[in-house]
Amino acid sequence: MSEKGKLIVISGPSGAGKSTVVAEAIKGRQDVCFSTSVTTRSPRPGEVDGREYFFIDRERFDEMVEKDELLEHAVYVSNCYGTPRAFVEEKLAEGLNVLLDIEVQGARQVREKVPDSVKIFVVPPTLEELRRRLVNRGTESAEAIENRLARARQEYGEATFYDYIIVNDDLAVAAQELTAIITAEHCRAADRMEYLENI
Ligand code: ADP
Ligand code: 5GP
Repeated sequence: MSEKGKLIVISGPSGAGKSTVVAEAIKGRQDVCFSTSVTTRSPRPGEVDGREYFFIDRERFDEMVEKDELLEHAVYVSNCYGTPRAFVEEKLAEGLNVLLDIEVQGARQVREKVPDSVKIFVVPPTLEELRRRLVNRGTESAEAIENRLARARQEYGEATFYDYIIVNDDLAVAAQELTAIITAEHCRAADRMEYLENI
């Protein structure tokens, strides 16, 4: 029997290791795909348009909002981010699990629109370690790092509606936990009632 794809929302402070954990967890998996967001922020060195993000200007972003082309959208540290709706709907209909790496305000919108989405919050072991990772990543100025740390503290207070929390201390353990969550979510009785009914 075919099973529907799950919409899986991953949030957590910038630098917690969301992209790293997701990349490790979905390595070689054919049943999971990643939604590429649009953003008005400038690409970091090494980022490629259409891979990490679709980099667009504010005018195009506002147009997408206007035309309801985004499943959710939010402002994060002065830049706009959003999830293109069409891709997500298409992949879920094909039976694929779709991963969104989005911040808390966006996750809240997804919770309203897709109540059976799975919400996961990824945290570093400590905020000191978060600072170390942001500094080591070397992609942000000192000021941007302080802004992101301030936002992280705020997000912790708002993140009360998530289904799971992954502590990204040891990468292999964190990736295994993400894999386990996806597996367990597919075993939910509500999604497998057909096995009891079609006897
Ligand atoms: P996010 O996607 O949450 O912004 P990244 O995946 O870019 O975070 O990770 C931030 C930095 O932390 C990167 O330099 C990454 O290599 C590093 N990192 C990720 N996970 C771990 C971990 N478990 N231990 C140590 N460093 C990590
Ligand atoms: P960064 O600029 O570090 O790539 O991302 C900053 C924050 O924006 C992260 O918390 C990331 O999860 C979030 N983000 C990325 N794409 C989207 C999106 O499409 N929607 C929302 N709401 N947040 C996003």
